[in-house]
Amino acid sequence: MTFPLTGRPGPRRLSVWALSRVFGTDGYADRILENAFRRYPLDTRDKALCTEIVFGTLRWWRRIDRVLEVRFRGDWNRAPEAVRRICETAVYQILFLSKVPDYAAVDEAVGLGAEILHGRWKSTINALLRSVIRGRGEAVDVSGMDETAALSVLWSHPRWIVESRISRFGRERAERMCLAENERPGLGLRVNTIATERGAVLTELAGQNLEPEPFPWLDEYLTVRKTGVLTELPAFRDGRVTVQDPSAGMAVRLLDPRPGETILDMAAAPGGKTTHAAERSGDQALILAADVHPGRLRLLGRGVRRLGLHSVWPVASDGGAAVRKPFDKVLLDAPCSGMGVVRRRPELKWRRTPEDVSRLTGVQARLLESADRILKPGGVLVYSTCTVTEEENRGVVDAFRSGHPSYRIDDAARFLPEALVSGGCAETRTDEHGTDGAFAVRMIKTE
Ligand code: SAM
Repeated sequence: MTFPLTGRPGPRRLSVWALSRVFGTDGYADRILENAFRRYPLDTRDKALCTEIVFGTLRWWRRIDRVLEVRFRGDWNRAPEAVRRICETAVYQILFLSKVPDYAAVDEAVGLGAEILHGRWKSTINALLRSVIRGRGEAVDVSGMDETAALSVLWSHPRWIVESRISRFGRERAERMCLAENERPGLGLRVNTIATERGAVLTELAGQNLEPEPFPWLDEYLTVRKTGVLTELPAFRDGRVTVQDPSAGMAVRLLDPRPGETILDMAAAPGGKTTHAAERSGDQALILAADVHPGRLRLLGRGVRRLGLHSVWPVASDGGAAVRKPFDKVLLDAPCSGMGVVRRRPELKWRRTPEDVSRLTGVQARLLESADRILKPGGVLVYSTCTVTEEENRGVVDAFRSGHPSYRIDDAARFLPEALVSGGCAETRTDEHGTDGAFAVRMIKTE
């Protein structure tokens, strides 16, 4: 859907526009909002409200759509896209945001409907939203749906995810996992241990009322609940912290970078793990940071400069094809379905399909083959993802090892606390660890 943004759109109108862009393009919600705020500046409170509406609607989208579907007279799926987006964002405010008065959500939706759709849908939107308000205390109507479809509505996750989680973890755990992924996440920060120590950063951020908490299992991480504009904080600007979920720290712990080693980060951009590896080696390793995307490599370069690191060498390369010499260690932080990061990227759960997952396993397998070509005998290969689909994690690793019996798994428990280890690999789950879902395995090439 395209509708023009004219004048100075407020937070609700901008949220409808941004949601339409998320559904109409393959852009990420946070980037779309970032660009929107640049063109249509809002004050901090309105920015926060707009962001909350977009992300909250995306998280609860399936449930919200069902609420509208059962109250709409006609086929909701065939209602104009603008009507759907206007009503979805309004229902999110009505049912999930206690601080927004109903009239504010309804008035704005009706006004927007009148303007964008030239008056035709005004009364329908009004009647629909008033019906949602009247039925606020009622359970979501899932009558006539099979059990998985009903759970997909209640947990607001696509059917294929609900099915695969129930079959793998049982219903209770599947519910916990899906609901945890619908929560608003805190923000993870990694302390640059070359420049400072965590205690000092905790004290500094507490002094700025950010309510920081140390992450219990990796001592260079912390999380903050209140975020504000993080990139404007002195600790960020001066290169003492990097925004990174603590789950992302496991891969570099397994890589265990040491001074003097040659390390290839095969899919490095935007550089979260590369810079972590540089910090962990005391900036004393030689790290080649390769990525197929030159644009994303520029972000990596910016991060390296901000952190004052000297051991990282960016190179544009597909699967490390440009690399000729063997390396001591290779990190493959593979492109994946991202099903571990849906708290931050809720649009992903509506976009991805099981076919994407199987296509990605092919890409991951191909990149592992390249990693093998580049790694020295006796070297260390770390494979990691930010997804929780078993096919992309153990599935890919098992298939690789069956074609390459010389690789043995080096137990993750040697490098990480028990809470982050499962079956020799590093693994986090949102419901269990309060982090993104991530996976990492350390393998040794024995010959
Ligand atoms: N390691 C990064 C970090 O910690 O910030 C995140 C990497 S992201 C999960 C995967 C990356 O793989 C993307 O930057 C993407 O551009 C890159 N990529 C995808 N296909 C690739 C290929 N064939 N060769 C190299 N990089 C690739």
